Amino acid sequence: VFRNASAGALASRQNNELSGAVAPALASRPRRAPGAGRVVAQLAQKAEYIWMDGQEGSKGIKFNEMRSKTKVIPKPLPAGSIDFPEWSFDGSSTGQAQGNNSDCILKPVFSCPDPIRGDHHVLVLCEVLTPDSKPHRTNTRRLIEDILSEDVLAQETLFGFEQEYTMFGKNGHPYGWPDAGYPAPQGPFYCGVGLEAVYGRPLVEAHLDACVKAGLKISGINAEVMPGQWEFQIGPAGPLETGDHVMIARWLLHRLGEDFGIISTFEPKPMQGDWNGAGAHTNYSTKAMREEGGMSAIKAAIEKLSKKHKEHIAQYGLGNERRLTGKHETANIDTFKSGVADRGASIRIPLPVSLANKGYLEDRRPAANVDPYVVCRMLIQTTLKD
Ligand code: ADP
Ligand code: MN
Ligand code: MN
Ligand code: MN
Ligand code: MN
Repeated sequence: VFRNASAGALASRQNNELSGAVAPALASRPRRAPGAGRVVAQLAQKAEYIWMDGQEGSKGIKFNEMRSKTKVIPKPLPAGSIDFPEWSFDGSSTGQAQGNNSDCILKPVFSCPDPIRGDHHVLVLCEVLTPDSKPHRTNTRRLIEDILSEDVLAQETLFGFEQEYTMFGKNGHPYGWPDAGYPAPQGPFYCGVGLEAVYGRPLVEAHLDACVKAGLKISGINAEVMPGQWEFQIGPAGPLETGDHVMIARWLLHRLGEDFGIISTFEPKPMQGDWNGAGAHTNYSTKAMREEGGMSAIKAAIEKLSKKHKEHIAQYGLGNERRLTGKHETANIDTFKSGVADRGASIRIPLPVSLANKGYLEDRRPAANVDPYVVCRMLIQTTLKD
C-alpha cells in the first residue's frame, strides 16, 4: 500500500502533472503546448529550509536531528543558489535557545532541486545563527570553513561517508521483523535479495531516486548485516559538500519515511544482543595519499590518528560505546587498531588500496548518528593541522 501510494505520488509530481486530487486550485491552469517552454517559473517557489536541531533524546541519543519549514518565494531562484533570504525559527522548541530569547536565524548555505515537490521547488540547507548573528553552538559546519586554510585546500581532501540506518515501524518494532520473536540469526541479510531477507526496499529505492534527482553525490546503497538495516554512501566529495549532502540525504530519508510508514533511526545500537550496530564509516584521502606511493602518507595519518583516539571517540556519536564493543565488526572503544582489510580495526586500509599502494583510509569508529561536519573536521585537524 505504502509503496504504491508514495512511488506514485513521487512520479506524478515529477511529471509535473498536478492532479485535481493533489491541487484542485491549480488543475485548471493551461497545459503546455508541445514544445513550449516550461510555464512553472511563473508560479511561486516552495523552498524547504532545513537545519540541524539541538535536541537529545531521553537516552542521550539524537533521535531526530533534522528540522524544516517551508518558505514561499514569490520570485523563484534557481536550485543551487544561496541567495535565498535569511529566516528565523523558534529555537526554544528545538533545543537551541531559551524561551525568553528564542529566535534563531537560518542562513542558507546550500540548495538543490526538491525531488519530492518537483517543478522548480527547492531544498535549502541552512546554518543556524544566534539572535546576534554569531554561529550557534550546533553550527558545526562553520567550524569546517574555519580550518580550510590554504595548506588544507591544497591537499584537496576527499571523504566518502557510509551512512547506516535502521528501520522501525510506528509500533517501535524493527521494520519487517516478526511480531513475536526474532528473524533468523544474522547471515543472509547483508546485500541480500528476496522477501525472507530484505525488509523495506521500497523506501530505500525511493530514497535513492530522490537523492539522485536532488543532484546529491550519492555513490551507492546496500542492505546491511542486521535485517531492516541499510546503508547509503555519499562521496567522494570535499568536507563541506560531504556534510551538506549527508544532511539533505538524512532529511529525505525521514521525509519519505512519512509516506512509507517507516521510521529510520541513526541510533548506534538499536537492538541489544547479537545484532550489528549502525555506524558511519568515513573514508578519507588527501592528495598525497592518492598519489603514487601514497601509502606512506596513509600510514603517517594513521600514526597521528592513533595519538588522538580519545579525542575522536568523544565526538564520534552519542551512545557509540554500546556499538564499539570489539564484536560485530568493530574495534573496542578503548583500543586503537589499524589493519589491511580488517573489519575489526578502528582504521581499515581497504585491500585494493593496499594492493595499489595508494588511495584512502577508512575510519570505522564514527556512529551512525555522528555529525558528518565534525568527523570531516577532526580528520583534517588531526592529520593535517596538528
Ligand atoms: P565498504 O567496503 O567499507 O562497505 P563502501 O563501498 O560502502 O565501502 O564505501 C566506500 C566509500 O569510499 C564510498 O563512499 C566512496 O565514495 C569512498 N571513496 C572512494 N575513494 C575515495 C577516496 N580516494 N577518498 C575518500 N573516499 C573515497
Ligand atoms: Mn506560531
Ligand atoms: Mn559500506
Ligand atoms: Mn556498512
Ligand atoms: Mn565500510
